[in-house]
Amino acid sequence: MSSYQAPKAGSKIIIVGGGCFGLSTALSLATDKSKNYTVVVYDREEIPVRDAASNDISKVVRMDYGDSRLCMELAIDSIDVWNQWNKETQVPIYHNTGMLIFSGASQLCENELHSLKHIRNAGHADWIEELHGDQITERYPYLETAVNNGISAAYYNKIGGWCNSSEAIKHVYKKCKDNGVQFILGKETGNFETLVCKGKSVTGIKTRDGTTHHADRVIMTAGSWTPSLLDMKKQVIATGQIVVHFRPSEKIKQTLKNLPVWFGDFSRAGFYGFPINDDGVMKVALHSTGYLNPRQGDGVSVPRTQSTNDQDTIPLRAVQEFREYLQLFLPITEELDITYSRVCWYADSVDGQFIVAPHPDYDNLIVATGDSGHAMKFLPMIGTRIAQIVENIDNEYSRAWAWRTVQPRAGFYDRPILGDEPNSPTRMVTSAHLRSSKL
Ligand SMILES: Cc1cc2nc3c(=O)[nH]c(=O)nc-3n(C[C@H](O)[C@H](O)[C@H](O)COP(=O)(O)OP(=O)(O)OC[C@H]3O[C@@H](n4cnc5c(N)ncnc54)[C@H](O)[C@@H]3O)c2cc1C
Repeated sequence: MSSYQAPKAGSKIIIVGGGCFGLSTALSLATDKSKNYTVVVYDREEIPVRDAASNDISKVVRMDYGDSRLCMELAIDSIDVWNQWNKETQVPIYHNTGMLIFSGASQLCENELHSLKHIRNAGHADWIEELHGDQITERYPYLETAVNNGISAAYYNKIGGWCNSSEAIKHVYKKCKDNGVQFILGKETGNFETLVCKGKSVTGIKTRDGTTHHADRVIMTAGSWTPSLLDMKKQVIATGQIVVHFRPSEKIKQTLKNLPVWFGDFSRAGFYGFPINDDGVMKVALHSTGYLNPRQGDGVSVPRTQSTNDQDTIPLRAVQEFREYLQLFLPITEELDITYSRVCWYADSVDGQFIVAPHPDYDNLIVATGDSGHAMKFLPMIGTRIAQIVENIDNEYSRAWAWRTVQPRAGFYDRPILGDEPNSPTRMVTSAHLRSSKL
């Protein structure tokens, strides 16, 4: 039996990390006026933080979740709030382009079939249109090569699309401030260094400037930095994932104008992409095992970002993988330079599920992490679920995200390491490598 107890009304709650999990939680706790909590968020930088996973031009918002009914339901609820938020902002932060989801074979595969089953069981069969080769090429002629290459079974879900995630973070940040959440930000004053404890009880945090901050409850939401700040018992590791941008010509923009958010065989190849945005940028990314950056001493992987290494691009082998896949799937990109690239960091959990639970080493520390590369879409709702867990409320989400000791699949910790050696395939490329070889 866990000794964890909900905080009393009027408690001071510290949240470490002002990204997707942290801000959404702060907003939920602060808007529950019956509890009268004092909520204080700490972060290393001004929000949105430059290298936070949640700070990006776009993230996919989808309900298509294979066999995870809980995630599908949370995504559907989140989409309702995304639509409400669009009414609160001058420019939409959520774009309902629909989702075009491929199986990478001539028939839909297990993951996609599970998604369809749950969406239909939830009463939304009318959102789905299954598409076969000819229908795909008729509607999206620029995908003919993909179809000819056997990526020819797909479905279109008319609900879903993408959010402008940095704008969404700004929106929630403002809502937090409007609801009385306090922020302590900065590389000394806001930077968590260590927990302050009395026995197994956490009584506060110490920041880099040496100040101790008392709290009745601490919630760790430091994203991919979490395992380098707290012993996560090897249940979460920081993995670097690849993002590239293109700036298509006017002609290509016209050709691709009906392209929705797409998953090209997401459950196996992992590539996905976005329509061209209003700034003329088309983003493509890869959801994969990613890269590690082990620190000296204990080997824990820590995020290496363009804030810590400002000349970083992406590893050579990633450029090769992107070009190879896009040649099969969207060859129109062959003539485009990669205009921007980034390694962005997941807190990868062993089973891909979030971990939102009391930490087993302490009586009263909550961790909310293990995003595994798919939490941004839940920004509008995840805080409500995390707040329930903080308040010790038992439900399907608290059980699914409970602290667990999962035996990893073979090779889970064994991923390529970002390298600096001149001949390493994982060294960062120069701008010459990012240019199209077709020009
Ligand atoms: C390449 C990539 C693509 C993705 N695509 C999608 C997608 O399409 N759809 C989707 O739903 N999700 C997507 N995600 C996942 C999504 O971005 C994350 O799940 C989400 O941002 C996780 O939120 P977080 O709050 O845990 O982490 P972050 O948003 O990274 O926030 C963590 C915060 O903790 C702060 N912090 C760290 N250390 C300290 C410290 N010592 N003291 C104080 N603060 C600290 C950081 O500065 C940061 O602000 C993607 C992620 C990546 C990397």
